[in-house]
Amino acid sequence: MKPEQHVDLVIVGGGPAGMTAAVYAAQANLSTVILEESVTGGLVNSTHTVLNFPSYPKIHGMELMEKMRAHVDSLSVPVEEICEIEALSLEGEMKTVETDEELFRSRAVILATGRKPVPLDLPTECDEVHYCAICDGGAYKDKRVLVVGGGNSAFDESLYLLQVGVSTLTLVESQNRFFAADTTQTQLLADDRVEARTGTKLVDLCLEEGRLAGAILENLATGNRETLPVDGIFVFLGQSPNNDLFKDQITLSEKGYILAGADMGTNLPGVYGVGDINEKIFRQITTAMGDATVAALSVERYIRTLKGNMT
Ligand SMILES: Cc1cc2nc3c(=O)[nH]c(=O)nc-3n(C[C@H](O)[C@H](O)[C@H](O)COP(=O)(O)OP(=O)(O)OC[C@H]3O[C@@H](n4cnc5c(N)ncnc54)[C@H](O)[C@@H]3O)c2cc1C
Repeated sequence: MKPEQHVDLVIVGGGPAGMTAAVYAAQANLSTVILEESVTGGLVNSTHTVLNFPSYPKIHGMELMEKMRAHVDSLSVPVEEICEIEALSLEGEMKTVETDEELFRSRAVILATGRKPVPLDLPTECDEVHYCAICDGGAYKDKRVLVVGGGNSAFDESLYLLQVGVSTLTLVESQNRFFAADTTQTQLLADDRVEARTGTKLVDLCLEEGRLAGAILENLATGNRETLPVDGIFVFLGQSPNNDLFKDQITLSEKGYILAGADMGTNLPGVYGVGDINEKIFRQITTAMGDATVAALSVERYIRTLKGNMT
């Protein structure tokens, strides 16, 4: 039998949304726990420089998340990291969340699981295919890299790879234009080490003894293929929602995001969605934190109402 804990609120996911919800919940005197499958900080840990977080004109993403985590810790909210949730039952008044080590029972659950990168639709059984330049780019000083994708992430992370000191950077986008902001495009394309192509798709990898040796690129207009020798590939094809845990219980949009109401409530009473996992127009740190503020305050009101009904 696993040890059992009763809390007011379980927060699933410890990115900026989950941590903000924890701060508000703790200040509202709700007993709360954050369950995080990796380490706290979420996507912001892999953002090199954040320029739009009011109060810090320029801050490293990981540093910002360390500050947020310190705030959570100062309120003594328990945080379980590297924690695997094996089962989640969200219906009824008492929710249960079973991890690899414990069973939590709570009146409310906030889902703050965010998104993950869309993988390449190719078998990529080698160690040289990456999804985060800030995490893995350091190994590519004086090496040749291919970047797949033509949006903001691809261009931003390419700028980071140039800063790391890659020798050449080839960027390919399968559509007929790039989608990144004009200023970022101009900045990247001005560097002599960069070659950027539209209408071009990565169709296969060349491996030699299990290591990446090259990338096979196809010109989609002509059908011509060529092998480009590269040492590493960085993939930025967008993000998809982390909804596996609850997709059978929570009403989701066509694209798999939570359809949350004005109070961030879902179709199930006592269950809330916040941050990037929600269907919304703008996914930013501040919008994630705004959702989390609303959800935590709604949880406080929900639990107070439940307790009032019991007396
Ligand atoms: C390249 C890039 C650059 C960006 N730059 C900026 C910027 O400069 N400024 C800005 O405001 N925004 C920026 N963003 C957007 C910002 O990072 C997100 O909007 C923000 O991180 C969303 O926070 P979140 O907490 O909802 O999700 P996330 O940050 O994705 O956190 C979700 C957390 O949930 C955890 N999790 C997932 N599934 C489970 C599970 N089953 N069990 C337990 N835990 C789970 C994850 O490990 C993660 O820690 C950027 C995004 C990207 C991709």
